[in-house]
Amino acid sequence: TKDLESDIIIIGAGPSGAVAAALLRKNGYQVTILEKQHFPRFSIGESLLPQCMEFLEEADMVSAIEEAGFQYKNGAAFHYDGRNSAFDFREKFSPGWGTTFQVQRAHFDHLLAKEAEKQGADIRYGHEITEVDFSGERPWLKVRTDQGQEYEARGKFVLDASGFGRVLPRLLDLETPSEFPVRMSLFTHIEDNIDHPGHDRDKILITVHPKRRDIWFWLIPFSNGRCSLGVVAKPEYIESREGEPLDILREIVAEDPNLSSLLENAKWDTPAREIRGYSCNVKHLAGRNYALLGNAAEFLDPVFSSGVTIAMKSASLAADTLHRQFSGEAVDWQEDYAAPLMVGVDTFRTYVDAWYEGTFQDVVFAENPNESIKQMISSILAGYAWDSSNPYVSESRRRLGTLAELCRA
Ligand code: FAD
Repeated sequence: TKDLESDIIIIGAGPSGAVAAALLRKNGYQVTILEKQHFPRFSIGESLLPQCMEFLEEADMVSAIEEAGFQYKNGAAFHYDGRNSAFDFREKFSPGWGTTFQVQRAHFDHLLAKEAEKQGADIRYGHEITEVDFSGERPWLKVRTDQGQEYEARGKFVLDASGFGRVLPRLLDLETPSEFPVRMSLFTHIEDNIDHPGHDRDKILITVHPKRRDIWFWLIPFSNGRCSLGVVAKPEYIESREGEPLDILREIVAEDPNLSSLLENAKWDTPAREIRGYSCNVKHLAGRNYALLGNAAEFLDPVFSSGVTIAMKSASLAADTLHRQFSGEAVDWQEDYAAPLMVGVDTFRTYVDAWYEGTFQDVVFAENPNESIKQMISSILAGYAWDSSNPYVSESRRRLGTLAELCRA
């Protein structure tokens, strides 16, 4: 296999890599994506937020997604011990998309990658980055193919979009511990056979465990009669049980009467998978000739389905900053990329903290909420966490604290 030269090398062809590639191609750069796996491949992260449609639009990928027949999504429903609540994302404070999709990621990610290829990105599947060197004038990478060959790649700039592979954070020693406690998730796909009239397939359903408010389940319906089902808990809660992961998941789901009744006719036909300790932090999001995108940079918690949206926002900001740099402008990656990205990440972080503290759960399940406040919260749940004109973004911690007190009263 011959050595490779490209303007921009992207590690990983998930949503952040594919969107960044398409945006950079628009400005005529030569883009090569090196992807370790072959697509379609499984990935978790199946419920999108309306905000991410804006980035798909920028990347000219919306029609491909709209035509793919994914499950339409217009909001989030919540259940806790007999109480129900729902947010319709079309009723929100921020302007922009109010609907999106719930997607099987194998198919979704493959579509995005194919769209990036159509726009001229060169994607090499089965090519894994194993070593990097940023000390020279130009970045150098060592690549190993799944056929066992090795070659060298050189670019002017490297975007790490390797998700939980976290290639540059590992190889450049950028990892720092997350402030979140270690949590674990068990999940599967089922044929749900839900025929309950009150169940809305157009919304993700988040269920809080009736006895432990720090444990929650997701139910993400797909368009083919199946859904993604998972639980998030501290590892002890799951590891203290015996049996196959799928049996353990079924046992925990059975602890919630509402979920059990919704799923009474479900066919559990797929082994469960697990992922643990997924939250992560890094020392910095960019350095000389590289930047970290999506999950390779930060991952908080799955509760608000913010991962793909943050991944695409990072792609959009990085593509823009890189284009300005290549056009000769003086750019500051901290100011121009990391700081604006962190506005939304920090907003989500406040809500994730408040979710596990219980304060945000009190807001979600409040009876007779104030409509205009509900629309501001709906905006954040729809992914508009960068809209600083929303007081629940710009002053998230203070506003949320006051609101939770009011809801409790
Ligand atoms: P990825 O989609 O992970 O893509 C990274 C790619 O890089 C992969 O294809 C991988 O093969 C490749 N790669 C890795 N290492 C190498 C290497 N050495 N060389 C070359 N290529 C490499 N997000 C949501 O938006 N909605 C949800 O409902 C949601 N639910 C979640 C539930 C759980 C339990 C968890 C843990 C996460 C969830 N997420 C969710 C987050 C979501 O999974 C991620 O944020 C999203 O996939 C990040 O996209 P990405 O492009 O950064 O990386």
